[in-house]
Amino acid sequence: AAKNGGRNGFAFYKSAMTEDASHFMTRSLELRRGLENGELVLFYQPQYCRQSGKMSGVEALIRWNHPTEGLLGPGEIIPVAEQSGLINEIGQWVVEEACAQAMRWRDEGHKCVRVAVNVSVRQLRSDDFVDVVRTALALTEIPPQSLELEITESMIQDDARIISRLHDLRKLGVSLAIDDFGTGFSCLGSIKSLPIERIKIDQSFVRGIPEDRDNTALTEAIIALGRKLGMAVTVEGVEEQAQLEFLQQRDCTDFQGYYFCRPVPAAQIFNLPAINVKTS
Ligand code: C2E
Ligand code: MG
Ligand code: MG
Ligand code: MG
Repeated sequence: AAKNGGRNGFAFYKSAMTEDASHFMTRSLELRRGLENGELVLFYQPQYCRQSGKMSGVEALIRWNHPTEGLLGPGEIIPVAEQSGLINEIGQWVVEEACAQAMRWRDEGHKCVRVAVNVSVRQLRSDDFVDVVRTALALTEIPPQSLELEITESMIQDDARIISRLHDLRKLGVSLAIDDFGTGFSCLGSIKSLPIERIKIDQSFVRGIPEDRDNTALTEAIIALGRKLGMAVTVEGVEEQAQLEFLQQRDCTDFQGYYFCRPVPAAQIFNLPAINVKTS
């Protein structure tokens, strides 16, 4: 807006803040329209069982088929959604669509895999969220344990309402995972009292393994921590053969990363090969 205004000779300009604000306004209106017009889609990234090499689950990752800008990622969606208050509607759509996709895969005769969905803190705070999940499960009749909700550590710090909400979700039978584990400075003591079945080690720890000694030590320690607490441990962000070879020898349960597969449209998920497990 400032560009046109200035170049056309008008004696005003918009400050950077006004520009940001109007960009934000435009974006949030576009996003609302996009949600209504079915422009949002879920891509899925496979996760693989370390021991069998088989696909053990998929993570649903939001994309926006923008009419003029092409496929946009969560960085263009989630912050706008959170600030504009659209996040609950979008989050509801994500849960419903992921469950519906799990149902379609089942109806096509595929084996039932875990479908993980990212949940933002404003969703978790919303009083409707448990009902949203309950309804999506009831409508699709997918096994509740095949839906996994990914939350981040920073969401749960000492917030009694959120903690009781996690217990309510767990009572529905869904699984809970902590995403980006290690980046949220969680109080480790609170983790053991939460109904969490999985931690996902953030990709920042996986970078440079095995040469980077600090990251290697951190990754090994987090794997041991999660496993000793009886949790499954997914290592995210595996990009290279050397990382995989190292991690194959460790006690993590699952892998996810570009080395195996980028996020892909739902139709491609069951055309992917199993990974090659090489543990010697
Ligand atoms: P996340 O949940 O930690 O998801 C993993 C992100 O890492 C994905 O990016 C994925 O494409 C990327 N990734 C996977 N493997 C690799 C790898 O080997 N190397 C690298 N460098 N990256 C890898 P994406 O799809 O852009 O999503 C980014 C974040 O956006 C997600 O991080 C999640 O926090 C958020 N997000 C995505 N979908 C949703 C959603 O439906 N709702 C909410 N609330 N947040 C979402
Ligand atoms: Mg995630
Ligand atoms: Mg993550
Ligand atoms: Mg992340």
